[in-house]
Amino acid sequence: MLDLFTPIENLTGVGTVLQRRLKKLGIKTVGDVLFHFPHRYEDFSNVLPISEVKINQVCTVHGKIMEINTERTWKRRMIVTTALVQDEKAAIAATWFNQPYLEKILNPGDEVFLSGKVALGKRGVYLSNPSYEKSDPEKTLTHTAGLIAVYPETEGLSSRWLRSVIKRLLMQMKGGLRETMPAKLLKENNFMPLEKALWQVHFPDTLELAQKAKKRFSFEELLYIELFVLRERLKLAKEHAVAIPLKLEVVQDFVGSLPFKLTDDQRKAAWQILKDLEKPRPMNRLLQGDVGSGKTVVAAVAALNIIKAGYQVAFMAPTEILAKQHFQTLYNVLKGFNVGVGLLTGKDDKYFSRKLKNEIIDVSNQKLMKMIKGEINEYTGKLDVKLNILIGTHALIQDKVKFGKLALVVVDEQHRFGVAQRARLCGQDNQKNIPHLLSMTATPIPRTLALTVFGDLDLSLVEEMPLGRKKIITKIIEPEKRQEAYDFIKKEIVSGRQAFVICPRIEKKELNDEGKINMWSDVKAVEEEFEKLSKQVFPDLKIGILHGRMKSKEKDRIMKEFKAKKIDILVSTSVVEVGIDIPNATVMMIEGAERFGLAQLHQFRGRVGRAEHQSYCFLLTTQPDQLNRERLKAMVKFDSGFKLAERDLEIRGPGDITGVRQWGIPDLMMESLKDLKLIEQTREIAKDILQEDSELKKYPELQEKVKTFREKIHLE
Ligand code: ADP
Ligand code: MG
Repeated sequence: MLDLFTPIENLTGVGTVLQRRLKKLGIKTVGDVLFHFPHRYEDFSNVLPISEVKINQVCTVHGKIMEINTERTWKRRMIVTTALVQDEKAAIAATWFNQPYLEKILNPGDEVFLSGKVALGKRGVYLSNPSYEKSDPEKTLTHTAGLIAVYPETEGLSSRWLRSVIKRLLMQMKGGLRETMPAKLLKENNFMPLEKALWQVHFPDTLELAQKAKKRFSFEELLYIELFVLRERLKLAKEHAVAIPLKLEVVQDFVGSLPFKLTDDQRKAAWQILKDLEKPRPMNRLLQGDVGSGKTVVAAVAALNIIKAGYQVAFMAPTEILAKQHFQTLYNVLKGFNVGVGLLTGKDDKYFSRKLKNEIIDVSNQKLMKMIKGEINEYTGKLDVKLNILIGTHALIQDKVKFGKLALVVVDEQHRFGVAQRARLCGQDNQKNIPHLLSMTATPIPRTLALTVFGDLDLSLVEEMPLGRKKIITKIIEPEKRQEAYDFIKKEIVSGRQAFVICPRIEKKELNDEGKINMWSDVKAVEEEFEKLSKQVFPDLKIGILHGRMKSKEKDRIMKEFKAKKIDILVSTSVVEVGIDIPNATVMMIEGAERFGLAQLHQFRGRVGRAEHQSYCFLLTTQPDQLNRERLKAMVKFDSGFKLAERDLEIRGPGDITGVRQWGIPDLMMESLKDLKLIEQTREIAKDILQEDSELKKYPELQEKVKTFREKIHLE
């Protein structure tokens, strides 16, 4: 007996090759197949007598095959199959390219339906590459004469094949599909029941019905997300945290010690955070601000306040480079405040700042662990300094690291850090209290979407850029203008500035799963680009290279050299994506820009323009196709990350937005996240449901789904 959980291996007619292709799409069960939705429909519903078809019209004809032949064309080296089809009054030719097997499937005498576009060729009108189907009075039509589902293109999996399989499955399961949405919600919102909705999504009677069916599924998926985040929020409100009294003098001292004035947004965000910290409930706040908006110092205000109350701070960065940079920054700004700053990244890096001599020293692993626990202080002459703030990568999450008095966790570009994870950072005596969380992101997300994706977090925004920043000039560079761009970079470097060159991948060729070489041979690869720039283009400049496969010591050295201006141009992969702060760099040149999402491109661009110098971003493309072009144009047009995020949402859906991607949610849900109005609607409904029944006792279906969703997404 089939159900939604039946593995595809158990289906007849799905061989190992097809299974592999399906699995590539993440399709493992019958349910996955049925929930693999088409992205559009071909309208073949206009069925006409052959005598009435017109050029350029998309239509369906019904007739008998009179003859069918296959030949190889000389000029274009293609195999063309041509059939002549006739109805009562007239005949028309149909041609297909490179499908010689059609001659075996379609035979003279067969009655067929052909759907497609009518074209005019040398030999008169013909149907170009029509969808075909033999008429069979026993069966309804699947590929012709109606609205026909078209699925996202995948190698070796045709829409035709998917339609056949899905139809077969739906027929076999008729009447046996269990409804997943509570009856009450179905009725109140006038949604289609599950089975009918699946039929209408894959084999719609009208486009309206297809839309209506899809909406039901979107709503359903969104509802799980909303219920999930809202419940997380309710749960968190019941947890305990240390209430940190606001020490206004300390904050004022600190702000006064900075070499710049905080922007209003920075002040406001810091204030919101400090107010949260005063409460005995764990703060769960997302600090959202474009690259370069100055989030780190806002976090430092919060950290210092925690430290002065006698507690510790953990600060987690996504990469080693960034962890070290944060360490440097925090060490510098907190230097005058008698604070012990530590760094823990991989195996080798364990630093600690010693207050008295204002220096950074290496400490042993054991010693650092004891300092984190608060068991020892590092004696530096007369003054003893505790470890107050520890900065690190994921290395912070390990059994050995147990903070003695942790009250705040700051995570940079991670978004989510569950309650359980926070608790795990704490030692024995500290476990009743959950540390406060400050999550920081430079990924701007349209507000409505943020309310959903980060619905369990409160939001603070730093939109305003520090004063004195100039707008970065962004240009799409046509291939023939490449030299001009190089000349420009040269000029900048001669006048004392530095530049980044970003390439999409490390090596020139990439092997795919089957050991075949991928086609992106024209994609700029870092190593190759490095060679070219250092030997041919800029032989007299100092070029550096940085990519993810380098040892961390090596990466470190390169970043240090770049910072110290010993390197003029840094050729890098997306390693430099977030956070790197090189105020002297003024040119960001991005190779293969079409291969990056808008959010990522914007991140790269944010690496320059971080000081008073006019900065530039050059976008170079290898394969200028329409959609990508649009994305690059958006880069030129908008400099606000929020505007770009909205645009990205329109162009590509939310798949590129960091927080969303981290959830690993399926495409269907991604689609629904595009619909901001529906999001709001669902959110209200989810609120109502939880208001009357916070445990979802009356809704076992929802409870189960929310649970599965919870298990699916990883809170890290
Ligand atoms: P991001 O928000 O991208 O993490 P950072 O915190 O790294 O930004 O700050 C970027 C740069 O701006 C840093 O060099 C920082 O010292 C500087 N900065 C932060 N706030 C201000 C301000 N109010 N005025 C001038 N410069 C600032
Ligand atoms: Mg940052």
